[in-house]
Amino acid sequence: MSLDVRALREQFPILAQEIDGNPLVYLDNAATTQKPQAVLDAIMAFYTQCNANVHRGAHALSDEATRRYEKARDSVAHFIHANSREEVIWTSGTTEGLNIVANGIAQRLQEGDEVMVTQMEHHADLVTWQQACTRSRAILKVVPIHDNGALDIQAFEDMLSGRTRLVALPHVSNALGTVNPIKKLAALAKQKGALVVIDGAQGIAHGGVDVQDIGCDFYAFSGHKLFGPTGIGVLWGRGSVLEDWPVWQTGGEMIARVSYEASTWGALPNRLEAGTPNIAGAIGMAAAIDWFSKLDLEAVQSHEKQLLASATEQAMAFDGLKIIGSAPDKIGVLSFIIDGSHPADVGFILDRQGIAIRTGDHCAQPLMRRLGVPGTARASFSLYNTLDEVDSLFRALKKAQMMLA
Ligand code: PMP
Repeated sequence: MSLDVRALREQFPILAQEIDGNPLVYLDNAATTQKPQAVLDAIMAFYTQCNANVHRGAHALSDEATRRYEKARDSVAHFIHANSREEVIWTSGTTEGLNIVANGIAQRLQEGDEVMVTQMEHHADLVTWQQACTRSRAILKVVPIHDNGALDIQAFEDMLSGRTRLVALPHVSNALGTVNPIKKLAALAKQKGALVVIDGAQGIAHGGVDVQDIGCDFYAFSGHKLFGPTGIGVLWGRGSVLEDWPVWQTGGEMIARVSYEASTWGALPNRLEAGTPNIAGAIGMAAAIDWFSKLDLEAVQSHEKQLLASATEQAMAFDGLKIIGSAPDKIGVLSFIIDGSHPADVGFILDRQGIAIRTGDHCAQPLMRRLGVPGTARASFSLYNTLDEVDSLFRALKKAQMMLA
């Protein structure tokens, strides 16, 4: 079945606008996705019907807020095939999720232990481990990529050792679109007894994430890349690993008993969720998940493939344009540079034509250096984009190339 993109787009009010008289062409989905009406309605409904703090109120509004908030946790658990709702920890986003893991592992690493990441890491999944390693005198090993942006699997295997305590890698690279074979890599890492953390910021929006099947220990993602609000995310952790994971922040909600001298911690998931949570965010994120889950996933994936295929074909036929990242398994992202022009200038000229892309280092400075580019222009696609919009991108790029020549 094919996707009714026209009908889908009608659910995203923001897409109907014009920028300087041009229809908005939103191709910055790897940075953040737009939000369907169902998500906006769920957030509005929370604030207009039952805004109250959760868990601690002795009144009807608080009960209803708690019910919606905890139901949201169930939606997430079901969506990613968690073993239990207690494995779903609300965070402010992928970055915080990774920091919760890094904070815990830093307390357990010994001098000379090893943590492995890849050359395609987002800063959120690199700096975090650098800091954890510095704190504990562990060694950070960086698995190389091939020139096409695919991970060097042989090197990954060779670099694993008896001292590897943790492996962190992205499901999908935000800068290149490379999809990593995370199930296979997790199995290799597990053979060495390492913990496996997946940065799922980009992987989650393309559907079909099954944390049990992947075999990882942690999977972190953000609501805003999955048609939900900003400021909310999830850290999924395997129950047996989370059980005694060191606390992250301390304060209300996460305790069992407190005296002036000492405190004890509550049970999961609250033990890792100090303070008043982002209630509206969680409810909005679950609304996004419920909305996304009703779509025909195969049709979504096939539509996204078509968009990328058309973009890649046009890019290859475009004189003076170089695609950055052409791994065989790739989704959603076309990163490129145009000879003789800076990506920022290309982005500026596209913006004047209503086309939103991202330019720069995509929070992956070492990766840009590895690839020998100052940065790239990146068009990233989502299910509501059309083939016409891909054509508009290339028409606008021709103009940009002429203006910058
Ligand atoms: N990892 C990857 C691969 C990302 O694309 C992003 C967001 N650009 C992050 C981590 C961080 O996500 P957030 O800013 O939502 O915490």
